[in-house]
Formats: sequence, structure tokens, C-alpha cells
Amino acid sequence: MKVLITGGAGFIGSHLAERLLERGDDVFIIDNLWTGKLANIAKIQTHERLHLVVDTILNESVMNELIFKADHIYHFAAAVGVRNIMDHPVETLDINVKGTEVVLRLANRFKKKVFIASTSEIYGKHVEHDLSEDDNRVMGTVKKRRWAYACSKTLDEFLALAYFDEKKLPVLIGRLFNTVGPRQTGQYGMVLPNFVQCALLGKPITVYGDGTQSRSFTHVNDAIGAIARLMAEPSAEGEIFNVGNDHEVTINDLAQRVKEMTGSDSEIEHIPYEKAYGPGFEDMERRCPNISKLKDAIGFEPSYDLESSIQSVIDYFKE
Ligand code: UDP
Repeated sequence: MKVLITGGAGFIGSHLAERLLERGDDVFIIDNLWTGKLANIAKIQTHERLHLVVDTILNESVMNELIFKADHIYHFAAAVGVRNIMDHPVETLDINVKGTEVVLRLANRFKKKVFIASTSEIYGKHVEHDLSEDDNRVMGTVKKRRWAYACSKTLDEFLALAYFDEKKLPVLIGRLFNTVGPRQTGQYGMVLPNFVQCALLGKPITVYGDGTQSRSFTHVNDAIGAIARLMAEPSAEGEIFNVGNDHEVTINDLAQRVKEMTGSDSEIEHIPYEKAYGPGFEDMERRCPNISKLKDAIGFEPSYDLESSIQSVIDYFKE
């Protein structure tokens, strides 16, 4: 099979590229290297079935050719990372809205099956219970820049479902919850690589806010395994799935675990959100997926617990 991975030089896309090469696919990657890196695909770049195009997904003639060739499209190219999104609001909206529009419109031209990588940010400020795919979204004010990202990805989902319903385009959506693992950089704000790097360097581990906010971390290998299986499951078409791990941890506990597992002397410091991200920032208090839909569809069980996920990040940075 020929697959196209947009954003294939990114953290998640590059792991997926490796997995699909292993199973024998021809893998085409398009990546503009905004947050993606050639280093992420260094191991596979010379593989005879890997084809890399360094370009933007907004380049329609290039995308037309790639989508024409592909059997399946995995659409990961997007603005990522809270810091990046806070720093680049125009680019975020531009690439997330226009990019997905290009992918879906061209996929529809050739009726190619598409996986849309979406995000748990979509749920917004829910706190009450584990998040299910049909839950309402609770968005903050338009004045808070973070919500632009959630809204742009929501629009992507609407567009994908519209293509499915109206044009019969085979498409499915995965809402990825905090995904971690080797090659994820702390550069764009993500918490675990930041904590691990600080702990290994003996620098303060900086917890934003009071640290009682919680997240649920999925190992990238679990996430890409689920995505590949969903793409092979006909009943998943036209559906939205949470892709995550339902073990929840507070950021304070995460900092403590990282400190212990690295044997670090680093202090755990709390700093206000405004100092970390500037004004106009709002955090989610908790975010934990209900993954029963994913379990029912493909028999998903996460194979990494929190400890093994943290360990794989520690091992990566030690290397
Ligand atoms: N966070 C933190 N210190 C950091 C980076 C992030 O305390 O160095 C917090 C952040 O405020 C959030 C959580 O960790 O509450 C997860 O942040 P991340 O940016 O990784 O993901 P998201 O907020 O999108 O879930």
C-alpha cells in the first residue's frame, strides 16, 4: 500500500512512518520542517520505500500529485505545542484550517481514505468526567489565544464529517490526548520532555500554576498502533475516536515521578501561567479520555503505563 503522511517528519508522524515502513508500505512524507525535523526521520530517510517531500501542504500542485499516488492519507501536519500556538496565532489558524481543507478537498477528488489527527483540546474546559467523543465542547473566550487552536481543529473535524456525509469520502478522526515518547521536543512547551530535560540537567523542574491540573499520557507507540488499526477497520469510517490512555496524573505528581526516576536533585518550582505563556492564557484543569469506543472498535489496550512512558523519554534524552 502507498501511504501519505502529512507532517511525517514530526514527532508522531515519524513514528507512524517507521511503523508503516515495517509493515511493507511505501511511505510518502510531506513536511515543511516548521516543527518537524529531518533528525526525526534520520533512521529511515535512506529507506528505499521512503519518499520525502519538503514543502507545505498548502502547495496544492504538490499535494495533488501526492494524494493521487497514495492509497491512504494520514494527516498530521498542523501547528503543535501550546507555546508555539501562543507565539504564532496567525500561522496556527492558517495551517490548521487551510491545510486540512486542501487535504480533504484533494482526497475527495480521488476518493482516498483519510485519517485526520485531531486533539483532546477540542473538549476545552471540561472537568467533571472522563471525556467521551459525543461530549459538548466548553470553549473559553475568543480573547484567550489558546482556544483558537481548539477551534481550528474543531473546524477540521466538521469539514471531515461533512465530506463523509455529503461526498461519501472515507474519513476518520482521532482525537489524540497528550502523547509522549522518544523524539518529542520540549521546545514548544510539552511538559514531559521539559521535565525530563530539566531533571537530567539538574535545572529546576518548572510546574505552571499550582500543579493540581491533571493530564493522561499516551505513549506514541500505543497511539500510532491504534491509528493504523483504525485505518484498517471499515466500521471506523465517519467516526471520531479518542486516542489516549485513561490513567490520570497531576502535574505535581508527574514532576515528582520524573525527579525520582531520574534520581535528580532538581528543585520543583511553581511559576504562574502568565510568566510561562504571557497574558491571555488559560489552562485545562483536567483532561482524561474515556477510551471505551476505541476499545470496542479495535480491542485497544495501552501497553505503556505512566512509568514506562516516562522511562522511554528518560532513555531518549540520556542517549
Ligand atoms: N506544564 C508545566 N510545565 C512545563 C510545561 C507544561 O507545568 O514546563 C503544564 C501545563 O501548564 C499543562 C500541562 O503541564 O497544565 C501539560 O502541558 P502540555 O503543554 O504538555 O500539554 P497540554 O496543556 O496541551 O495538555
